[in-house]
Amino acid sequence: MLHQSVKKMSYHVVLQRLPSLLADAGFRGDIANDAALLAAMSTDNSIYTVTPDIVVAPRDAEDVRRLMRVLEAEDLRGVPVTARGGGTGTNGQSLNAGIIVDFQKYMNRLLQVNVKEQWAEVEPGIVLDELNAQLAATGLFFAPTTSTASRCTIGGMVSTDASGKGSRRYGKTSDNVLGMEIVVDGGRTLDSDPPTPDWANAMLLEIEAACASGRDALLGQVPALSRRFTGYDLERARPPGGDLEWWRLPIGAEGTLGLVTRIRLHLMRKPKFKRLVVIGFETFAAALDAGSALLAHDPLAIEVMDEWVQGLAERAGILHALPVGLRARDGQPIAYNFVEFVGDDEADLARHVEALRESALRLAGAIASHVAVDDIEMAALWQVRAASVGLLGKVSGTRRPIAFVEDCVVPVENLAAFVKEFTGLLSSNGLSYGMYGHVDVGCLHIRPALDIDSDEDRTIMKAISDRVFDLTRRHGGIFWGSTARACAALTLRSSSARPPMTRFVASSGHSIQRIVSIRESSSVIRDLSWALRQPRFVASTPMKMTLSALPSGVTAMLSV
Ligand SMILES: Cc1cc2nc3c(=O)[nH]c(=O)nc-3n(C[C@H](O)[C@H](O)[C@H](O)COP(=O)(O)OP(=O)(O)OC[C@H]3O[C@@H](n4cnc5c(N)ncnc54)[C@H](O)[C@@H]3O)c2cc1C
Repeated sequence: MLHQSVKKMSYHVVLQRLPSLLADAGFRGDIANDAALLAAMSTDNSIYTVTPDIVVAPRDAEDVRRLMRVLEAEDLRGVPVTARGGGTGTNGQSLNAGIIVDFQKYMNRLLQVNVKEQWAEVEPGIVLDELNAQLAATGLFFAPTTSTASRCTIGGMVSTDASGKGSRRYGKTSDNVLGMEIVVDGGRTLDSDPPTPDWANAMLLEIEAACASGRDALLGQVPALSRRFTGYDLERARPPGGDLEWWRLPIGAEGTLGLVTRIRLHLMRKPKFKRLVVIGFETFAAALDAGSALLAHDPLAIEVMDEWVQGLAERAGILHALPVGLRARDGQPIAYNFVEFVGDDEADLARHVEALRESALRLAGAIASHVAVDDIEMAALWQVRAASVGLLGKVSGTRRPIAFVEDCVVPVENLAAFVKEFTGLLSSNGLSYGMYGHVDVGCLHIRPALDIDSDEDRTIMKAISDRVFDLTRRHGGIFWGSTARACAALTLRSSSARPPMTRFVASSGHSIQRIVSIRESSSVIRDLSWALRQPRFVASTPMKMTLSALPSGVTAMLSV
C-alpha cells in the first residue's frame, strides 16, 4: 500500500499545476478531478480498481499535442499518461494512477470516407456501432465485431487488437487497419503517411533493429493461433525483407507506445444476405464436440452458450425468440451453437444452411435446430447470445462469476478436451461457472463464480489462475492478460532497481497484492520501449500476463 500511496500523493501534488499549465498552452478540452469522475474512471470491466489523479478530455489531436508538450516540464515527466476509450477492457488496461486521457468524450468523429477505395479515417474515441451506423448508407462497414460494440471505441479496439464474431473471415482489428497518427512525448507526432519527420529517423532505425532482433524469438514462443491477443506485433511490423511499418506496433500495445489520435481503417462491403442457425444440444460438451463438423460448412461464425447461461436466459424471459423445441426440455437447460452464414447469392446461402442443418442434426447430442432469415428475428436471437455476460453479472449471492481466466484461446481441435479439464478443475474446487464464446476460433469465456471478498476464495482464484495458465499452454494455447503492458512494466521495473512489487485494490474494496518478479529481462521489449522512449505510458497497474507470448528469456511469476 505504501508504494502506491506515496507515488499517488506525489502525482497529486505535481498535478495541481496541470489545469493552469494546460490553459496557458491553449488546451480547449476538459480537465477534471472531481470524486465522481475519478470513481467512474477507476474501474473498467476487470476485477481491478485504480483511482487516477486527474482526467483530461482533449477536443482534438492538437489538444493531445498541447497536453504532451506541457508534460515535458521537469516535475511532470514521470507522471503516467493512460488513454481510455469505452473502458470495457477486462484486464484493467485503461486504469492507472496519474492522468487518464478520455478520448470518447470529444474525439469521436468520423473524419473521412473513401467509398471507392474502401477506407475511412476516424478519431479514436468513436464507438464501433456508431461508426457502422454512420457508414450504413455507403454499403461498407468496419468488420471486426466485439460483444461490446455498443460502447467500445475504435481506439480501444486498435490498442487491444480486438476481434469477435466473424474473425475467421474478417480478421482481427490489426487486419483492418491501414495506418495511424500517434502523439508521443513532447507532443511529437508520427503519421504513417509520409513524410517522416526528421526527429523520428533515428528512432525508427532503433525500432527496426529491435523488431529484427526480436521477431524470431517472439514467433518461436507464440503458438500460431489466429487470435494471438495483444502485444507488440514484431511479426508484421517488419516482415523479413520488407520495410518497417512502425504503425503496426501500437496495434495491440494497449496504449504503451503513445496516444493514437487518428486511425485509417479498411472497410468491407456488407454482405447482401444473412442466415442464423441455432442448434440445441443436450450438453455443452456435445455442443463443443460439434464445433469441427459445423466449421466444415464454412460459416461466418460459430458461437456457443452453456446450459447455465441458457438457464439464466430462460428465467430472464429472453428466450421467447426461440421456438419451443429449442427451449428447456422437461425443465433441463440445453446448450446452443449459434451459426451465422453470410453471402451475396441467396440460393447458394440456402444450400449451405440446409447442408449444415442436416449434418448438425445427425451429431451426437443434437436436439433441434432453427433457421432465422428475418433481420429482426436474427437480431433478437443474437441478443440472447450477447446477453450472456449481463446475465452472469446478475447472478445473486456472494459468489459471483468473475472474469480472471476470461480469454483463453486454444486450437479449435483441442477445445473440447481443454474445456473438459478446465471445468473438471472448477468442479473439483466446488465452483460453478458460466461459459460462452467463439467455437470457431477456439476462444471461450469462462467465468468461475467466486467471492473475491473472501480470503479463501482469493486463494482459490490464484490457484485456478495458475492451473488454467498451465492448462492453456499444454493445449497449445494462449492465456491472455495485458501482454504489452505487463511486458513493458516488467522490463521497466526490472531495470530500475526498485523492488518489483506493487499493490492495488480490487473492485470489492479489498486489496490484492501481486508480486511480480522477473528472472531475466527481455532485451526485445526493453529495446523497443527504449527505442520509443515512452516509459510514461507504461501502466503502474500490475496485470496477469501471457507468459506464453513473452519472448524467450523472460519468465515471470505472479501471486495474488
Ligand atoms: C462483456 C464483454 C465482451 C467483450 N467482448 C470482446 C470481444 O468479443 N472481442 C474483443 O476483442 N474484446 C472483447 N471485450 C474486451 C473489450 O471490449 C475490447 O478490448 C474493446 O476493444 C476495448 O475497447 P474500449 O474502447 O473499451 O477500450 P478501453 O478498455 O478503454 O481501453 C483498452 C486499451 O486501449 C487503450 N487505448 C484506448 N484508446 C487509446 C488511444 N487513443 N491511444 C492509445 N491507446 C488507447 C487503453 O489505454 C487501454 O490500454 C469484451 C469485454 C467485455 C466486458
